[in-house]
Amino acid sequence: MLNHETWQTVLAELELTISKANFITWFRNTGIIANQQGQVIICVPNAFTRAWLEKKYHQTIIKSLERITGKPIKKMEYKIDNIKNIPEDGATTETPKQAAASAASPTAAYFPKSAQINTNGGFALSPKYTFESFVVGKGSELAFAAAQAVVERPGIAYNPLFVYGGVGLGKTHLIQAIGNEMLKKHPGINIMYVSAEKFSNDFIHSIKDRTAKDFQIRYRHIDLLLIDDIQFIAGKVETQESFFHTFNELHQANKQVILTSDRPPKAIPALEDRLKSRFEWGMIADISAPDFETKVAILAKKCAEKSFELSEKILQTIASNNQTNIRELEGALNKIIVFHQLKEIPPTVESVKSLLSSFGVFSARQSLTPAQLLETAGQFYSLSREEILGKNREKKVSLPRQVIMFLMREELKMSYPAIGDELGGRDHTTAMHAHDKITNELETDLKLKQELEMLRQRMYINNV
Ligand code: ADP
Ligand code: MG
Repeated sequence: MLNHETWQTVLAELELTISKANFITWFRNTGIIANQQGQVIICVPNAFTRAWLEKKYHQTIIKSLERITGKPIKKMEYKIDNIKNIPEDGATTETPKQAAASAASPTAAYFPKSAQINTNGGFALSPKYTFESFVVGKGSELAFAAAQAVVERPGIAYNPLFVYGGVGLGKTHLIQAIGNEMLKKHPGINIMYVSAEKFSNDFIHSIKDRTAKDFQIRYRHIDLLLIDDIQFIAGKVETQESFFHTFNELHQANKQVILTSDRPPKAIPALEDRLKSRFEWGMIADISAPDFETKVAILAKKCAEKSFELSEKILQTIASNNQTNIRELEGALNKIIVFHQLKEIPPTVESVKSLLSSFGVFSARQSLTPAQLLETAGQFYSLSREEILGKNREKKVSLPRQVIMFLMREELKMSYPAIGDELGGRDHTTAMHAHDKITNELETDLKLKQELEMLRQRMYINNV
C-alpha cells in the first residue's frame, strides 16, 4: 500500500475516536515520510505537534498502522518538515501512476480546499486566516471594514488597499483572509499571494533565465494580487520598475491589488515617488496595537481554536503581560498550553504567572547583541553598516545613527564609551549627546516614537 493511502486510512480510523477540533489541530499537515522494514517516520509541521503526538497518540498510531499494513512496527519517529517537501510516495510505491493519482497532501481529503488552491507559483493561503478568526478591536476596525468592502466590490471600492502596522499585529492574517473570502465567493478566481521579497526574487530570476514573459503572465493575468511587506522593494530599482508596470496593468483592468507594509507609503525610505503616490490612490488603513480587551478576546479565540480552556482570569493575566505584539502573545499562549498539557496539570493564575516570567521578552532582550541591533536598524532605515559608521552628517544618516546609540543605551544598557566604540570609534560625548537629543525629541515627535516602537519590535522578533 502507498504511504499516502496508509496514512489516509490511519486518519480515517483516528477521526472516529477523537474530537474534530483535536483531530484537525494534531493531524493537519502530517503524513508518512518513510515506512520500511518496520521503521516509520511521520512528518509533523512543528515541535508542538511532535511533542503532542509522541505523548498522546504514539501507541494509537502504531496500533492503527500495524492493523492496516498487517506488519509489526519496530520503531516510529517524528520529523518536523513541511508536508509539501515529502516526495509523492517514492519508497514503497507500487506503481508511479497510483502515486501521481493521489492528492497533493496526504491529509488532503480532510482539510479545507483553500489549503490546496492553485496558487500560480505564489504562496498558499493559510486556511486558518479568515475573517471569522480575526478579532476586530479599535486598532483594526478601519482595516477590517476596508477588507470587507474590498471583498464586496473588488477592484472598485478601494484599489489599492494598503494596510500598514507594526510587526505581529495581523496584517498577514487580514490580507490572507481577504484571499480566502474571495475564493469562497468566486471559486474560479486567480489569486496571487506573495511576499515582496518573493516578487523581487521571481523578477530577478526571470531576467536571469530570460523568462520575463512568463513572469509577466504570472503576475499580470490574475484577478487579485496580494503582496505582503511591500516595504522590502524599497531601494530595489529594477524590482520597483517591474512592480510599477504590474500595478498599472492590473489597476487599469480593475483588478484588485492589496499591499501590506510596516509603515505608511510616505514613510518608506528609498521608495519611488510614483509608487508612493499610487499606493495612496485607494485606501490606506492602519492596524495599531490592540487594547487590553481586544488582547483578551484574541486569546479567548485562540484557545477555542485549540480546544483548550483557560479561565477569564488567566486570559487577563496573559494579556496584561505587557505584550503589544499579537504573534508574541500567541506564542506565550502556546507555550502555556503545551506546558500544562505535557505536565498534565490544570492551569492556574499562579502557574501561568510563573511561566510568563520565565520566558518572553526578557530572554530575547538578554541575547540581543550590539551588532544585531545595528543590523536591524540599518535594514529598517535602508542604510548599510558603512553608512552608519561613516562620517556623513546628513539627517537621513545622522538621525538613524543617533537612534541606534539611544537604543544601545536604553535596551542594552551599554556604557557611553562602549557605544562610541561600536559606532566606528566615536567619542563617548557623541553617544551622550545622541541619547539626550533622542530623549528630548521623543517627547514631542510622535513619528519618531512610532519608529522606535517598530524598531524595538523588530529587534526582539528577529532575535527570538
Ligand atoms: P503581521 O503580518 O502584522 O506581522 P500576522 O498577521 O502574521 O502579523 O499575525 C501574527 C499572529 O497574530 C497570527 O497568528 C495571527 O493570526 C494573529 N493575529 C493578529 N491579529 C489578530 C486578530 N485581530 N485576531 C486574531 N488573531 C490575530
Ligand atoms: Mg506579516
